[in-house]
Amino acid sequence: MTIHMTRRAAVSAGLGAVTSMAATPETSAASANNALFSVAQPTVPVVGTGALFPVRRVYCIGRNYAAHAREMGSDPNREPPFFFQKPADAVMVVQPGATGSIAYPTLTKDFHYEIELVAFLKSGGKNIPVEQALDHVLGYTLGLDMTRRDLQNAMKAEQKPWEIGKSFDQSAPMGPIHPVANVGHIIKGRISLAVNGAVKQNADLNQMIWNVAEQIAQLSRANELKAGDIIFSGTPENVGPVVSGDTMTGKIEGFPDLVVKVT
Ligand code: MN
Repeated sequence: MTIHMTRRAAVSAGLGAVTSMAATPETSAASANNALFSVAQPTVPVVGTGALFPVRRVYCIGRNYAAHAREMGSDPNREPPFFFQKPADAVMVVQPGATGSIAYPTLTKDFHYEIELVAFLKSGGKNIPVEQALDHVLGYTLGLDMTRRDLQNAMKAEQKPWEIGKSFDQSAPMGPIHPVANVGHIIKGRISLAVNGAVKQNADLNQMIWNVAEQIAQLSRANELKAGDIIFSGTPENVGPVVSGDTMTGKIEGFPDLVVKVT
């Protein structure tokens, strides 16, 4: 593609004395190579392939299990789905058999776990019909939507965005991706979270208010979804705090455990 601007167009576009501009694929590539510094691309390994999934965006649905919606003070029957995002570099991969380590975050005195099924998109689109939504899913894993609950609640009370409660460093530990080719689409099965061996959260994935296909369809109305997008599909009830020294063990039926220690 080549773009030519007349002098008049350049001036009216606020470009002053610029007489002509041209952009070609070559100059676009040169601009990319002229980046001031490199920014790390977060990735998640795909089990059994050696391939890495580059993370584009991390979407999370809120209050997607009725009992959790109630414990968060809302009516699960009336609320349409809503979403927030975490930064891509909040993703932290913990290999099966290993114990991941996250630092107790700053600014909070109420650091909460939320165990969730996580879906990974290999393609996307706008206005994706529910019936076609799962065709875009590469695979699944289990992850933790770690939350600074006191900050989230304080911001909620002041009707401010609760980003600071959700979007922070190391707030999205997760396992590697289990491809649909191996595990199928995950629509039911036990999901649980234990702290130091004591079970805290324990539910079934089939209790989601909006399933993964419906989440994809809904999200694609707000934004064009693309390959590299990740969706945290919501946590069941009985979220709660961890302190430094605690070890969380997340389980989803059919997947290896996710083990993360708070340091
Ligand atoms: Mn969550």
